[in-house]
Amino acid sequence: MAQADPKVIGVLTSGGDAPGMNAALRAVVRTALSRGAEVFAIYEGYQGMVDGGAQIRALDWNAVGGIMQRGGTMIGTARCAAFRTRQGRLQAAKNLLERGIDRLVVIGGDGSLTGANLFRQEWTSLVAELVAQGEISHETAAKHPFLAIAGLVGSIDNDFFGTDMTIGADTALQRITTALDQIGSTAASHQRTFVVEVMGRNCGYLALMSSLAGTAHWVLIPESPPDTDDWETLMCEVLAAGRAAGRRHSIVVVAEGARDRNGNPISSEHVCKVLEERLGEDTRVTILGHIQRGGAPSAFDRWMSTLVGSTAVEELLSATPETEPQVIGMRYNRITHLPLMDCVLKTQAVAKAITDRDYDLAMDLRGGSFKEQFRTLRTLIRALPHPPQPGLRRLRLAVLTDGAPAPGMNTAIRAAVRMAIDQGHSVMAVHNGFEGLMSGELEEFGWMSVHGWGSMGGSQLGVSRKVPSGKELYAIARTLEANGIQGLLVIGGWAAYEAAYKLYSERGTFPAFNIPLICLPATIDNNLPGTELSIGADTALNTIVEVLDKIKQSAVANRRCFVVEVMGNNCGYLALMSGLASGAERVYMNEEGVTLKDLEVDLGQMINSFQKGKRLSLLIRNEFANPLYSTNFMCALFEEEGQKLFDVRQAILGHMQQGGNPSPFDRIQATRLATRCVEFLSVEAEKNSSSGAFIGIQGGHIKIHSLEDMPRMVDISHLRPKEQWWLDLRPLVKQLS
Ligand code: ATP
Ligand code: MG
Repeated sequence: MAQADPKVIGVLTSGGDAPGMNAALRAVVRTALSRGAEVFAIYEGYQGMVDGGAQIRALDWNAVGGIMQRGGTMIGTARCAAFRTRQGRLQAAKNLLERGIDRLVVIGGDGSLTGANLFRQEWTSLVAELVAQGEISHETAAKHPFLAIAGLVGSIDNDFFGTDMTIGADTALQRITTALDQIGSTAASHQRTFVVEVMGRNCGYLALMSSLAGTAHWVLIPESPPDTDDWETLMCEVLAAGRAAGRRHSIVVVAEGARDRNGNPISSEHVCKVLEERLGEDTRVTILGHIQRGGAPSAFDRWMSTLVGSTAVEELLSATPETEPQVIGMRYNRITHLPLMDCVLKTQAVAKAITDRDYDLAMDLRGGSFKEQFRTLRTLIRALPHPPQPGLRRLRLAVLTDGAPAPGMNTAIRAAVRMAIDQGHSVMAVHNGFEGLMSGELEEFGWMSVHGWGSMGGSQLGVSRKVPSGKELYAIARTLEANGIQGLLVIGGWAAYEAAYKLYSERGTFPAFNIPLICLPATIDNNLPGTELSIGADTALNTIVEVLDKIKQSAVANRRCFVVEVMGNNCGYLALMSGLASGAERVYMNEEGVTLKDLEVDLGQMINSFQKGKRLSLLIRNEFANPLYSTNFMCALFEEEGQKLFDVRQAILGHMQQGGNPSPFDRIQATRLATRCVEFLSVEAEKNSSSGAFIGIQGGHIKIHSLEDMPRMVDISHLRPKEQWWLDLRPLVKQLS
């Protein structure tokens, strides 16, 4: 029997460029090749498809090596007027058929995906026309009866319906947040006011989330204009009150698509003029511009794009004429398949709602968490708390951080303190974790005590890693009683959870422990039950990936194998995800263990590939992958066996992974979770309940579990949750390296 022709896939990037497109491209190419398909890159978007010739070129495995860390798109992108015409699409079809391409991965925005959909619908008629014109043979036409499409959304704006994040949005958010941090420090020195304009077109995502993550004091977004005509007065009052309360600077974030409730655009110049005239403040405008799109993609944009790129190819290879075109996106950390045109139409509906000034609809279409974040932001940026509501029970809450420090702990404390005070409660901050709770190191915090904490790494309150027992429990009970504590928020990692569990299980012995208690997951290890991600893990992952970029650069100069050890305790999350995001060849983790046999196989492969001219091998190892086959041991083994073929170096990344300013993602999650924890404590204390709980995000929703369930949910001998969603991503590392 004759062998079937290989399937042929084309891939293009179109519309605005976005960091992460290269990672998607790499995944598309390598997944296709590893599945025995051929793959062509179509350069310069649809223009290359129309022009054909050298603009459509086959790519091999190595052509997409070392591109993941590069911003933009290495195959170029463009807007193409010709593709909007049938004649242009006819030409494009001919160029594809000449190479046997009948499956396309289109990476772009709503316009690019609309074009792809139209192209697919017209395919049969385009093919028929080409046959009629004698441009292609009947035989060729018969071989390609349909065109299969998979869309990936590339857009820094995060403006696409159905996917939580578009390719590039997380990176852009990081750029903006860093810029706001930097502007904040210079602004504070001179007591200046800054108006910062950010991108996003008619989507307020970047403006809202960067304001929440950075420390903006006023934000203007397209979907929810100020609900008064004289918003200028309102804005000035709020900013003036902030100054009066002791803020040294003010930042106003303006989305480029911001408008007032009558639909008139609000420009950053106008905001600047108003502030100067009415407040008499030294005000500057910074338009961040294209800085937001450029540069190396974030860790998330790398692994997410890798995952969607690889999935798109799997989809295309199994496509039939009946398969509807799909968008491959991410929802709640999982792949989602969505009907392409339906999403495009819903995406465009938001834009229309804004033009129609139907702002409620626009906010509804953006979704529940967008609305919730906007509400939270409005509380956090207040200069002072709301006056207490009469009749509301005022509580005395305590907050502490414990376990190893994690970026985002301060952000969580800031949100908790302000949310609690805003509801009329008082907050005692505990220094030095549970040890401080034993020795009574409590300090009452006010609104401004946490000023500037949103962007600070580490833990300002300090940690102890103390799991109390015996007399220590008695001391804690005394502190709680002496201070009249009616609710306790514990922010931290494994040790903090253990300590909280201890208090919870000793409620029978110590009446003072009969108060509501809740744990908020904050550890870079991401090893806590009840949450898919803990606060700090995203920051650590980004730190690791940045360092790996540098290590890779240094290593390719010589033929070298690098063994990099990352943290995580017994949890392989940081190892696996940094491996995915950096294109590592092999990831070793405790969940799988390491055997001598494994090392032999890996060594054999390495020798083989270095002999073929490879220059760099990157291996990532979780710190506790195997207690005896240490990083040292592995390096010694490889070095000795590799002989003159390659040399081996190790890098143990160490505590830099726990440091650094929190990433916007960690700041936003910390804020969301802390807000809900305060709500939980208020509600439970109101009921005089003594429930103990831990909070987390699962399947996109905030979930609160009883501490009762903790033992059941953890693998206690390995100090990690029984279920770890990211383990499903393991095959990808092997497939792509
Ligand atoms: P972004 O908006 O993020 O920049 P986009 O994909 O929406 O990305 P567009 O400029 O709208 O950007 O579209 C990119 C290209 O897709 C267009 O230049 C054109 O070639 C093609 N295209 C867009 N809309 C259509 C359409 N309705 N029919 C055919 N082709 C289209
Ligand atoms: Mg568009």
